[in-house]
Amino acid sequence: MSQTTKIENAAFIITVDPERRILKDGSLLIKDDRITQVAKSDDLQDTPADRIIDATDMVITPGFLNGHMHISYAHATRGIFPDDLGPAYYPYLFSIQSIMTPEEEYNTSLLALTELLKYGTTTIVDPGSTKHLGACLEAYRESGCRIIVGQQVTDRPNPWNLPVYSTEEALKLTGDTIERWDGELSGRVGAWAMPFAPEYCSDELLVGAKRIVDEHSTGLTIHHSQTVPAGEGASELDVSSTQKLADLGVLGPNVTLAHALGISEHDVEIIAEFGARVIMCPTAAIKGGSGMTSTALLPELLEAGVPVGLGTDAGNNSNLVESMRAMYLAAVLYKDGRRDVSKIPAETAVELATLRCAQALGLDGDVGSLEEGKKADLVMFDTRRAEWRTLFNPINNLVYNADGRSVHTVMVDGRVVVEDHKPTFVDEWELIQKVQSLGEDLLERSGVSFPSRWPVV
Ligand SMILES: [Zn+2]
Repeated sequence: MSQTTKIENAAFIITVDPERRILKDGSLLIKDDRITQVAKSDDLQDTPADRIIDATDMVITPGFLNGHMHISYAHATRGIFPDDLGPAYYPYLFSIQSIMTPEEEYNTSLLALTELLKYGTTTIVDPGSTKHLGACLEAYRESGCRIIVGQQVTDRPNPWNLPVYSTEEALKLTGDTIERWDGELSGRVGAWAMPFAPEYCSDELLVGAKRIVDEHSTGLTIHHSQTVPAGEGASELDVSSTQKLADLGVLGPNVTLAHALGISEHDVEIIAEFGARVIMCPTAAIKGGSGMTSTALLPELLEAGVPVGLGTDAGNNSNLVESMRAMYLAAVLYKDGRRDVSKIPAETAVELATLRCAQALGLDGDVGSLEEGKKADLVMFDTRRAEWRTLFNPINNLVYNADGRSVHTVMVDGRVVVEDHKPTFVDEWELIQKVQSLGEDLLERSGVSFPSRWPVV
């Protein structure tokens, strides 16, 4: 039986549709999982619906997308690493992750998803770090999120304690993962190839992974040029790593490069020429001292027409996993770094977290904007709060004033997953207590310990 929903009397609906309309006094009609109409409230006043959601004093936006976020492990031991450790924390992290049980991973994934959904992120790319996809599928099912998963693989030694497979095993795992999980949960789950990074993958693995995704009409994401090298601009290695992917035939419109911090202007041209896509993670980049504000080429990628979206990376390197904060940073970093207030306007920042990110993930046919025919993935912000007032320009208030705390209601695929600021799918406090205790247990089992620099008495 199909169900109709009307969300009525919103203060503003930020549609991100082709005309970028902002509807003042707007309403939305939804049938099951898809939007059927976006219109002025007066025009839909007499249209009946099975379910009515009051949006008085709300600003409605498309659901946000997070194009790079390892959701499965970091919440268990979040915040334990000193901030001056830099990449040296990775081996500890991956050794903790390697001993996690399916139940532990399910619970940490569910907590990460709870946080993401509560603050308005409805689509997530988990770049291949989930070990027990079967257990975690339950977390995706319960939370109602939209997610792209995969299996991160390397076939070369790496300093990060990542498992090293033979090339053949890595390719088999990639193909099997896509065949098993792509399209699960009525299409809310996608599965991609996820070779970890060009430095730790042979040419054969990279080429083979691309061939698999071409055959399966799915995507590939890879950590690419994750840091800006010390000194000026990009190093020879970074330049050649983009060129190398292009020369191997691995770049293409179904390939999403994550981070892309150390790329050169020539690399931007290559990425544009091959139609590849990029996800940048400002909250992680600046905490990692990457020099993103002055050297990473987000404005240039946009000028070159490359589909770019935002990610946050894991809860243990950026720590912040909120799309709203990534969107804010995208808007302000380049104004400061380039000493140019025309860089990344607020409207572009909104696009980076919505439609442009959907394009960078190949999902823009379904999500990223509020239009007839698209999936009903949306966020309702409560503007009856000090940080939203006064309210004249909802875009500026959304990007520069607000954060996830004002997210009142979140819908994914037509299902309300957050209502009155609370997740509808889980007892949040009970889950938090569970993850706190499993985190303590994991630290004890792994022997990883980083005492506070200040005495805890
Ligand atoms: Zn990553």
